[in-house]
Amino acid sequence: TPDIRPLVAGNWKMNGTRENLDQIKAIADGLGPDLTDKIDALICPPATLLYVATAIADETPLAIGAQDCHTEQSGAFTGDISAQMIADCLAGYVLVGHSERRTLHKESDATIRAKAEAAKAGGLVRVICIGETEAERKSGDTLKVLETQLAGSVPDGATAKDTVIAYEPVWAIGTGLTPTVADVAEAHAFIREQMKSRFAGEGAAMRLLYGGSVKPSNAAELMAVPHVDGALIGGASLKASDFLAICKACR
Ligand code: PEP
Repeated sequence: TPDIRPLVAGNWKMNGTRENLDQIKAIADGLGPDLTDKIDALICPPATLLYVATAIADETPLAIGAQDCHTEQSGAFTGDISAQMIADCLAGYVLVGHSERRTLHKESDATIRAKAEAAKAGGLVRVICIGETEAERKSGDTLKVLETQLAGSVPDGATAKDTVIAYEPVWAIGTGLTPTVADVAEAHAFIREQMKSRFAGEGAAMRLLYGGSVKPSNAAELMAVPHVDGALIGGASLKASDFLAICKACR
């Protein structure tokens, strides 16, 4: 297996106004060589802060991304934001298929795949999120759900450079609950096999993040699981000290 450089990514969701930009600055300033020798770090603030966030992170190791993009690059889509616009804000990444988009905005795998394609066309790295619900886990369908979501939402031709997969069990997001280490290991090994069988060496080198109630206190244990190449962090990414503590645990 190739040596994979971990990615620690923060998703601020619909949180953060200008006064929270000091946390972006504190994260960027806190990414010393002890961390950047080993990991990449990314924060996805709300779109309203994107352009000023990239200015703050400019010439620092901190990458900035958006939380979603449209399937088209421009047009009559009131309220939506395109990959091209995100790239124009000098951001480098975009999340697609977050469970809150899948559930609250009823996004299908086909829509997420189209968004992932638009992201690449716009020059962004796409972080494609997948994960089972509590009911799906209880009925023993977890791996089947992951297989369907991967097949449906990851575009053909994905490479380790342009695509990151985030495994986020829906029931673990924002709940304080996490799967057992054995369950994370099973899911990540399965995702790795799926990506390898579809993308060969690119799938072997693709970063697979775990997300769902990652905190400074549990990050090291989760990151030690085979095929966990970083974390996607919601709540704990809003505070620079917590995010940086998780970065340290991911080294
Ligand atoms: C997320 O929103 O992607 C997430 C994992 O949230 P939290 O860390 O708060 O569970």
